[in-house]
Amino acid sequence: MTSHAPVFKNYINGEWVPAQSGQLVENRNPADNTDLIGLFAASGEADVKAAVDAAAQAFKKWRLVPAPQRGEILYRAGQILKERKEQYAAAMTREMGKVLKEARGDVQEAIDIAFLMAGEGRRLFGQTTPSELPNKFAMSMRCPVGVCGFITPWNFPMAIPAWKSMAALICGNTIVIKPATDTPHSTLHFAEALRDAGLPPGVFNVVTGSGSRVGTPLINDARVKVISFTGSTDVGRRINEACASTFKHVHLEMGGKNPIIVMDDANIDLAVDGAIWGAFGTTGQRCTASSRLIVHKKAAAEFTRKLAERASELKVGNGLIESNEMGPAINEAQMKTVLDYIEIGKSEGATLLTGGERLTGPGHKNGWFIAPAVFADGHRNMRIAREEIFGAVTLVIPVDSLEEAIDVANDSEYGLSSAIFTQDINRAFVAMRDLEAGIFYVNLPTIGAETHLPFGGWKQTGNGHREAGLAALDVFSEWKSVYVDYSGRIQKAQIDIPQD
Ligand code: NAD
Repeated sequence: MTSHAPVFKNYINGEWVPAQSGQLVENRNPADNTDLIGLFAASGEADVKAAVDAAAQAFKKWRLVPAPQRGEILYRAGQILKERKEQYAAAMTREMGKVLKEARGDVQEAIDIAFLMAGEGRRLFGQTTPSELPNKFAMSMRCPVGVCGFITPWNFPMAIPAWKSMAALICGNTIVIKPATDTPHSTLHFAEALRDAGLPPGVFNVVTGSGSRVGTPLINDARVKVISFTGSTDVGRRINEACASTFKHVHLEMGGKNPIIVMDDANIDLAVDGAIWGAFGTTGQRCTASSRLIVHKKAAAEFTRKLAERASELKVGNGLIESNEMGPAINEAQMKTVLDYIEIGKSEGATLLTGGERLTGPGHKNGWFIAPAVFADGHRNMRIAREEIFGAVTLVIPVDSLEEAIDVANDSEYGLSSAIFTQDINRAFVAMRDLEAGIFYVNLPTIGAETHLPFGGWKQTGNGHREAGLAALDVFSEWKSVYVDYSGRIQKAQIDIPQD
């Protein structure tokens, strides 16, 4: 280990503190693995306990801060993130690899959700409703749940922590977050923005380290009332099982295998543009990545030829160079997974038209770069059509009709995002009705969600909850129904029914 590398600490109870074991873990730039970003706390159970102690203590006061005041702090955090957008985006590109304009978008999502939830501080609506009895009042109100534990992935290292945090904070909860091992720096930047906005100590705590050593004790702590997880379906399933016996609120956002349907009446150039952005944006490392392109046979030849051409022209390299359009895989293991899937696709009989090889030339030497890959002649039963690869690989599956396209699209264990390119409004509405996914686009690819709409997936992508939008408030609040009787007597509901 390099001794002069910057050392980063956990953020617990408003202080920067090292892991109690003193252990550290390296974080390196995936575009250039000779670039050591820093040494981060390799935390364990004792650090999680300290963070939950702080969050449990802070909850006692934070839950009583009026929601409009909580909203003002979030608003200030949004402003601070705006001021530091360039700095935080550059640091994100360095640790995660996504190109700078996308890293700016990631910080922008944090800004957007901060402002959305800040405004919610003056709403947080419950319902008022007539009672069935005279001289009685009925209403429902949201209450905070308590300490929330967040476990987040590396692909949106500021946006996802911010989506969860802003919704949880406005409801009056406190937080302990374990960011992905590959991207702790962006979450620490987010903590810094919240601190500078005036968030009281203990309300937001960050403990960095591995899933097993930090995630597991966080899940097992009885004082943690909500676990909100974004990551792979395998890990999500294990978390769900681990939380079952204590009935924690569990919110899971997991994998995807998102289809774009391209009909024979589509504007093909528009569809190609959409597929390039949807498949290779963030190096295909989006849960919403367009990894299945289900194309009408009449359009397939032109679409596939143009797509392969465009993919082969994409500039792949260090995301800090503005002209680059696609960055590296997050780490060596992920790069190898993608390379393995390229071989699987070939062995299954799909035709690799372009890309799929590791890039090692100038500008790529020390990074985890792969040329964006386009497979043609796909079939729904292929592993590359069914399994989430999470890399710059997409597959064209030819079909004969809209009905077949929808059937292929729905033949997946995932149900996150979906899209159709067509100029026929009837076809667009049929697809809107029938595609089994939490998000649907017309004449756009499967990526590009906005923070004021609910975000999440059906089937094995999610467990029925939603991130972002006002739907997120349901994850982080308990409803309390309130009845106030001013009749001066005990009126029995369902029994003392007023007679006329
Ligand atoms: P991952 O499941 O490997 O890790 C996610 C987080 O869980 C990390 O912080 C990791 O350290 C932690 N973790 C791992 N094992 C754990 C365990 N046993 N106990 C507790 N925590 C544990 O996922 P990843 O590689 O970071 O991210 C990629 C995945 O995330 C993809 O499947 C992608 O589709 C999914 N994702 C989903 C969404 C969504 O909103 N649906 C958004 C982004 C990413």
